[in-house]
Amino acid sequence: MQKDDAEWRAILNKEQFRILRQKGTEMPNTGKYNHHSNAGIYTCAGCGTPLYKSTTKFDSGCGWPAFFDAIPGAVVRHEDRSLGMTRTEITCAACGGHLGHVFKGEGYNTPTDERHCVNSVSLDFTKDEEWRKKQEEEGKENGRDEL
Ligand SMILES: [Zn+2]
Repeated sequence: MQKDDAEWRAILNKEQFRILRQKGTEMPNTGKYNHHSNAGIYTCAGCGTPLYKSTTKFDSGCGWPAFFDAIPGAVVRHEDRSLGMTRTEITCAACGGHLGHVFKGEGYNTPTDERHCVNSVSLDFTKDEEWRKKQEEEGKENGRDEL
């Protein structure tokens, strides 16, 4: 799923392009998923890959959506030495889109003691029941292909 900047500009809006492709950060407490608590799946806004489940989301009070764990293999970590500090950047494993950063050992009462601090702009959300319906429909289509 490698695209060049022109292709990304065609499918992303300006803010999505700035954050996903140019590693920008949305203003704190402005993201639509910051205080979002419905049950469902958070997918990559760039490519639609499932990244986080609502069951791993927690209220960190940091101003961005926070998760204590990602869906296995969905997120890649990179060392980020920008802004004079060393942080761990996280990107979508499928398209390389910038998601945010991971912070460890902050003492949150979560199973991993990690905080995946993710831009709302980098995410889309699908409710559990819609997600199941979608999977079933795709399953049926795949079934037809085999016939
Ligand atoms: Zn992606």
